[in-house]
Amino acid sequence: MRRAVSVAGIALLAGLAAAAQTPAPKATPDHHERPPETVFRLQPLGGNVYALYGRGGNIGFFVGPEAVTLVDSQFMDLAPGIEAEIRKVTNKPIKFLVNTHHHGDHVGGNDFFRPFALIVAHDNVRTRMLASPETIQRDYPALIEKAKKAGNEQGAKALAEQLEWAKRVRVEEIAAPVLTFDSELRIHPGGGETIQVWHLPPAHTDGDSVVFFEKAKVLHMGDDFFNKSIPFVDVSAGGSVHGYEKALDAVIGRVPPEVRVIPGHGEVTDLAGLKEFRKYIADVLDAARRAKAAGKSKDAFLQEIDLPAYKDYRGYEDRLKDNAAAAYDEAAPR
Ligand SMILES: [Zn+2]
Repeated sequence: MRRAVSVAGIALLAGLAAAAQTPAPKATPDHHERPPETVFRLQPLGGNVYALYGRGGNIGFFVGPEAVTLVDSQFMDLAPGIEAEIRKVTNKPIKFLVNTHHHGDHVGGNDFFRPFALIVAHDNVRTRMLASPETIQRDYPALIEKAKKAGNEQGAKALAEQLEWAKRVRVEEIAAPVLTFDSELRIHPGGGETIQVWHLPPAHTDGDSVVFFEKAKVLHMGDDFFNKSIPFVDVSAGGSVHGYEKALDAVIGRVPPEVRVIPGHGEVTDLAGLKEFRKYIADVLDAARRAKAAGKSKDAFLQEIDLPAYKDYRGYEDRLKDNAAAAYDEAAPR
């Protein structure tokens, strides 16, 4: 069976190339339109670290004695608002911007911060962002047709806008990270804080990093963690359900029990919340392994897959089957 691209998948894909795009990309159908003054919610987490909820991937930032370090940039149209939220807390300059991965709802505001902030990410984030015009021109015409056929006019329109952008953008205009690394990197922002950036096994994409504020004991997971939400596994960008399990184990083994966790999507939580998400991943993998061991076809498995414990999770109806399909494809035949 060819894996269908879900509505949420299309919405996410539509955001992939939002970086450097002018004018700003429109909100995807997955994100509720709200007036600008109510888009943001700021949550202090102690140790001068803050979570900032808006539209798209959650933001984290640290206010040091000299400068601000920001994690992810949501969308271009929100970037001035992100800066305004930071200005409610401090007037210090924003000096570093870490991107957890290349998706448009996490890097879309990069262009706004580029004149004054050093953009940092894993090597693959830069590679994928710079390749996005080519990838979009190759993949989007078919996705637009698919969205139209599914009656998703809004999704088709968002994709068409991205396609137009991909045709006219010059690669040098893309606000990709200028400082990249292959495994780990540490930022020393002063104030006794050390900001650790860890690249993890391919999970959400093959360029995922998490950011650990060592002294504050706060962890920004990027999209390696969707809290109370079924994750999007971007298989086309090297993502893997097995990889999710490995990545989560690697992180859980390195952080203290009292850590506070900012997920890529959903509310800030604790280690127990992160472990619950790991359990979901393990359950999907387990279901796929059992189906394969029983000789079930992929179609039959996808027909019957049901994990009632996660029924309340956002995206259960569409993304669970996508996750299950990916897990089935990855499960070794027994
Ligand atoms: Zn993402």
